[in-house]
Amino acid sequence: MQQKTVRTRFAPSPTGFMHVGNLRTALYEYLIAKSLGGTFVLRIEDTDQERLVEGAVDIIYNTLDKVGLKHDEGPDVGGEYGPYVQSERKNIYQPYAEQLVSEGKAYYCFCSKERLDALHESKKEDDTFSGGYDRHCRDLPKEEVDRLLHEGTPYVIRQRMPIEGSTTFDDVVYGSITIENRELEDQILIKSDGYPTYNFANVIDDHLMNITHVVRGCEYLTSTPKYNLLYQAFGWDVPTYVHLPLIMGKNEDGSVSKLSKRHGSTGFEDLIREGYLPQTIVNYIALLGWCPKENRELFTLQELVENFSIDGISKSPAVFDYDKLTWFNGEYIRAMSEQEFIDHAMPYFRKVFPDAGLNWQVLASILQPRVTKFTQIPEMISFLKVLPEYPADFFVNKKSKTNLENSAQMLKESIAELEKMDDWSVDSLHDALIALAQKLEVKNGTLLWPVRIAAAGMTVTPGGAMEILAILGKQESIRRLHIGLEKLQA
Ligand code: GLU
Repeated sequence: MQQKTVRTRFAPSPTGFMHVGNLRTALYEYLIAKSLGGTFVLRIEDTDQERLVEGAVDIIYNTLDKVGLKHDEGPDVGGEYGPYVQSERKNIYQPYAEQLVSEGKAYYCFCSKERLDALHESKKEDDTFSGGYDRHCRDLPKEEVDRLLHEGTPYVIRQRMPIEGSTTFDDVVYGSITIENRELEDQILIKSDGYPTYNFANVIDDHLMNITHVVRGCEYLTSTPKYNLLYQAFGWDVPTYVHLPLIMGKNEDGSVSKLSKRHGSTGFEDLIREGYLPQTIVNYIALLGWCPKENRELFTLQELVENFSIDGISKSPAVFDYDKLTWFNGEYIRAMSEQEFIDHAMPYFRKVFPDAGLNWQVLASILQPRVTKFTQIPEMISFLKVLPEYPADFFVNKKSKTNLENSAQMLKESIAELEKMDDWSVDSLHDALIALAQKLEVKNGTLLWPVRIAAAGMTVTPGGAMEILAILGKQESIRRLHIGLEKLQA
């Protein structure tokens, strides 16, 4: 038998927000398709016209683009199964629903909103009522249906669920799942506005678009028997179901619960704003529910494609750990070339130095090993712009053998030496200060500690004395060393 080409689809509803859970679904769909030589499709599910959000589709395109999940078919790139926006497919669904009606597998329901509201109200106290529809219109006589249709009574089309027996389906991750049919509501397929429900449209579209693997969050597991019954009703092949585990967040008391805003940012754009790199986010979320065969954590998207396999997906809930994400981000930042780092960091450098031309290379060299998010940069480098207030006892350091007296002497000697210099590079500063320490017969640290304190006004700094001097430039460096000296002499 000829193997079908694998086709997966990412089918977001344009809500204006890309939750990390949705992005993970997109990523796994992409990885399943690409690791099996298949096709990755983007389909926009906008049948819920009341929930449409302006600009929401652009957010979907931008996110996929930023993380490199390139779709092979979709609204913007086309493809042979289009249109790829459900609202543009509106006329496709109704005939399929009518077909089910004519075969007795679906029916017109004329119940008014008032009747349904009253139904729910009256059954409030009834534990045996599942909250669904009471099948009032399921067996209306044909003449009655024709009359109501003829009178133009608004209607929906509902699926006629079997009342007896059970439905079993297989999920690659969760195994075989059986549900009693009597628990299944006669769900709406076509709404009174003529639009299909998500539950109906996704089945029709997945079939018409030849989707082989349906990948989605496990919150859809309980709806899957209904989808299965639709495939059966039409006599269509059921796709391979791949449901993904929940993503949890860590609570303060150590317990976990479904990831939400109170755990931290849950949207892709918010994480980007916080300073995480797109490739970090992709790498990290790949591991939320999938375990690579080898013991390794860092993967580029291409490496994920090469290593991904469905059997590595686990059903146990995955915990979104922000500290771990930050660690990943630091690793990605360190792996950048110097130029890449500077390009990324420049907007943050510019927040502190809007127009000054600094020695960006030196600045990068002291920041790249330390930064875990670019958003930390402005605060980390503000001491280079404005010398912080600091007390004289910062000059006292046991390990460097410095005290208030010898620090003053070191600063005086350093100023004299630095005044003479023309070449203000890290190397020349290094050579000059090391030679000075030798000449004065002190440990390097005894000279460099007070110089760094005076230059930075802080005890803990990114980079050492020479780098800080090099970034400050000659004039500012000497000015700061004088301020330090005055503090010591006061
Ligand atoms: N439109 C649905 C959502 O955004 C898609 C679910 C599915 O992948 O089938 O949740």
